[in-house]
Amino acid sequence: MTDKPQSLAEQVRAGDRRALAKAITLVESTREDHRQQASILLESLIPYSGDSIRLGISGAPGAGKSTFIEVFGNHLIEQGHSVAVLAVDPSSAVTGGSILGDKTRMETLAFAEKAFVRPSPAGRTLGGVTRRTRESMLVCEAAGFDIILVETVGVGQSETAVADMTDMFLLLLSPSGGDELQGIKRGIMELADLILVNKADGDQTAAAAQTQSDYRSALHFMKSRFDHWQPPVMACSSLNNQGIEDVWSKVNEFSLALSEKGELAQLRAQQAKAWMWSETAASLIADLKANPEIKRLVPELEAAVLKGTLPATNAAQRLIESYKKID
Ligand code: GDP
Repeated sequence: MTDKPQSLAEQVRAGDRRALAKAITLVESTREDHRQQASILLESLIPYSGDSIRLGISGAPGAGKSTFIEVFGNHLIEQGHSVAVLAVDPSSAVTGGSILGDKTRMETLAFAEKAFVRPSPAGRTLGGVTRRTRESMLVCEAAGFDIILVETVGVGQSETAVADMTDMFLLLLSPSGGDELQGIKRGIMELADLILVNKADGDQTAAAAQTQSDYRSALHFMKSRFDHWQPPVMACSSLNNQGIEDVWSKVNEFSLALSEKGELAQLRAQQAKAWMWSETAASLIADLKANPEIKRLVPELEAAVLKGTLPATNAAQRLIESYKKID
């Protein structure tokens, strides 16, 4: 990284693709000196961020996320938009591998001039991965991308993390024959602002209609996230490029409905505040864990907690008391 963060910020704003990739690499780095440069970079870029629609997209592996994002993204580009696709892959935090297998996906979009596709950053924790993605989102916005798609896999905690950083959360489903709701947890359904049944084509057309109607009934009994939005259940075929336009109209409708009533601004403000506190907590813990004094205490306390001779709360208190005494 030879560029000064300020000049990198200028290049990003001028739409320089190499600078954008470089800026995101900087933001994703965990090296202390890089973190400092990233802070300066982000502070220079934040006044130019925020002018986009942030859409979270989740679904089980095989639901058709990458196929959908490919056609949806290309449709948006045809409409004159520019699209950044970021990924939050919880498996990259656990195993270092990737469920989203980014390299071979979204081939036409990855090479489109008006698109930017970035795989999930590597990270040791989901928190680490989402932190980088949030920051990358700001960088992409400052670079002029007006639609940000944040993709995640429907396994575990990552849906909440993605819903917490986006305006709208889209849940992508495959048609199912049976009447059970595909094991989708209620909590995840409650996050959804739009449920989209993909693969509504060929011999799955009827099953897709059935799934659509099952989810409509299920949503009926759930509280929606926003006062001014009732989550619709739609169907599409990403393979045949059908229903994609309607999804885009719905996203616009959502965006308009929430902006008009000030709910969107409120949501983003709350998200930013929550982010500040989660950053504070993460940084404090990192600082605490890195302290030599604390490091010395940890094995003994952990052993006692593991053996069951010391309550976890007491161990935590001792760590914090010791940390507070360090100056
Ligand atoms: P992801 O794991 O959610 O990203 O799913 P993929 O996009 O990789 O799709 C999984 C499989 O479903 C692939 O074989 C796709 O070709 C297929 N698929 C995706 N969308 C559709 C669709 O709209 N209709 C049909 N019939 N197949 C689809």
